[in-house]
Amino acid sequence: MIVSEHIEGYIDSLIPDLPDDLRDLEEWALEHGVPIIRKSMQQYLKLLLTERKPKKILEIGTAIGFSTLFLERFSEADTEITTIEKVEMRLKEARKNLHGHDRIRLIEGDALSVLDNMALNHTERYDFIFLDAAKGQYPEFLKPISKLLEKGGMLVTDNVLLEGTIAESKFSIERRDRTIHKRMREYLYELTHSGEYETAVMPVGDGVAVSVKL
Ligand code: SAH
Ligand code: MG
Repeated sequence: MIVSEHIEGYIDSLIPDLPDDLRDLEEWALEHGVPIIRKSMQQYLKLLLTERKPKKILEIGTAIGFSTLFLERFSEADTEITTIEKVEMRLKEARKNLHGHDRIRLIEGDALSVLDNMALNHTERYDFIFLDAAKGQYPEFLKPISKLLEKGGMLVTDNVLLEGTIAESKFSIERRDRTIHKRMREYLYELTHSGEYETAVMPVGDGVAVSVKL
């Protein structure tokens, strides 16, 4: 939590209830410790979708498909969503939850090779990319993402503030978290300094970076 529990609680209280199916899935995820997008992030995504009306969405990190179904629900009726997941335990649920949803394509495999292949083949273009996978891999994801995202398209990256520890000195970060800390800083520096994107980093949910490709 980046902002205080008190403030997050108040902001969350203003957010409309989820439709029943999404609410049930959210409950399942929370019960089973699946790190799905938080309330404030859900609402922010909904706002971005309403405002941008993307037609081709790419999600990296499906987990059980909660955010995927959320993207489907709050995008236009003809919007297509591609989502990538590699962990079998998650895929088992995702296949079930996404079954019968024609606008959603689930790609099973390691996102890095899937993205590299997509970028190499020049076959896919997206106008909205939601990055929500292994945080230590974000810098590596950025190269293929830059090729797959249309000019003017939006890249939304979740969990960029690492529960707030991103702002701490690396010396105060536990050894096992240092690599992620370093990589996330690299990623955010690249996004904000490469000249390729206009980016705002904000304390929504676990921290979000919203970038538009210039
Ligand atoms: N977007 C989901 C939550 C995703 S949690 C939601 O909000 O509902 C992050 C997921 O990314 C995990 O399920 C993890 O298995 C997956 N993941 C992490 N690294 C990956 C990679 N390199 N390729 C594919 N999936 C990956
Ligand atoms: Mg996340």
